[in-house]
Amino acid sequence: MATRDTMRAVREQIVKPRINPFEMMLHQLDLARAHTNIPGGIWEILCRPERALEVSVPITRDDGEIEVFTGYRVQYSSARGPCKGGIRYHPGVTLDEVKALAGWMAWKCALVNIPYGGGKGGIACDPTRLSERELERMTRCYTARILPLIGPKQDIPAPDVNTNASIMNWIVDTASALRGEAVPGIVTGKSIELGGALGRREATGRGVVFTAIGILQRLGIDVTQARIAVQGFGNVGSIAAQLLAKQGAKVVGISDVSCGYYCPNGFDIDDVIRYVETSPGHLLAGYSTPGMEEITNDDLFTLDVDVLIPAALEAQITSRNAANVQAKVIVEGANGPTTPEADLILAEEETVVVPDILANAGGVVCSYFEWVQNIQCFAWEEKETNQRLGRVMQRALTEVWDLSQERQISLRLAAFVLGVERVAQAIRLRGVFL
Ligand code: GLU
Repeated sequence: MATRDTMRAVREQIVKPRINPFEMMLHQLDLARAHTNIPGGIWEILCRPERALEVSVPITRDDGEIEVFTGYRVQYSSARGPCKGGIRYHPGVTLDEVKALAGWMAWKCALVNIPYGGGKGGIACDPTRLSERELERMTRCYTARILPLIGPKQDIPAPDVNTNASIMNWIVDTASALRGEAVPGIVTGKSIELGGALGRREATGRGVVFTAIGILQRLGIDVTQARIAVQGFGNVGSIAAQLLAKQGAKVVGISDVSCGYYCPNGFDIDDVIRYVETSPGHLLAGYSTPGMEEITNDDLFTLDVDVLIPAALEAQITSRNAANVQAKVIVEGANGPTTPEADLILAEEETVVVPDILANAGGVVCSYFEWVQNIQCFAWEEKETNQRLGRVMQRALTEVWDLSQERQISLRLAAFVLGVERVAQAIRLRGVFL
């Protein structure tokens, strides 16, 4: 007999079918179309990835059993340069998710005007179930299988959800061994010792904060008085929270897959970061501080804050919860956290949404700096990286803001129009080969 939990899961499946991220990305693209004059044929090119690879990834588990995972690498567009985008390890990874994420990378790189196309990869797996050695074997096998597609001039992976510098290091090592030459520029986000860029680990969070501050200034909200809620306490959410707290903002809500917390006086974010550095699974569960109460993920979205930063997965703000969002501004640290239906509801409520392809572009901008340094075999100082990052983010924010004001459209629409137009223009200039 089905348990109450499985019954509830089945009911939720019926009531809330899983949102397909690729359909969501195409929907956003479609909305931008009316604001461009991209001809039909080129539009057709924009609506599908150039190449999608599915690989099986068999590994020997520590107990000697063989387990086979499924991995993907999608190259959405190489019109503006080599494909670029992270690799995700998550049980929810599907081909359609990777296609969507690869598309968002293409528009993002074009929007911030770095010479890349868009790509993305992933393995459907639960990395918390794997030992360090198993994770390494899975990464090396996946690298070997996608190797024909990747390279510093072809397609350059990077960290994304549940992947980090160690995983990038194994990719560099595997690719270098199989190619018989050093290829540090085959990935970005690797350890500094192997050619990683100083500041890359913090760059996405730093970019989120640059854009958040830029928007707050334009809206006349003082950052030192701002109350913030952050969903996701990984590489993006934790750094964004830390840097905003340093600016004097009060981070009053935090959550991750394990739990959520509310602290009206504001969290000591350095203390929370110290906790998750050694907590089981690097999760928030078990943290405590005076004046804090436990909340659900849903509660986090409805907190009375100035800024809400979704920094976890896609489709978190949906038609189900958008009307309850009280934040004045949403700054999207994650890729695709807001569905198009939710966007409509938020627009009615006059909530300002700073779109993912702008707000979280700091990571890939710094990846670009890392790649440039690898090509030149010359490392920059962190200060230089951060200053350049600031300049690129400011310019992109100004362009998006100005276009949205000029055409009276949302920031998302403006960002899409700018990014997609640039990719279309590159396709026009190159022409269609055969
Ligand atoms: N995974 C990050 C993103 O979604 C960074 C990608 C990169 O650096 O290539 O933007």
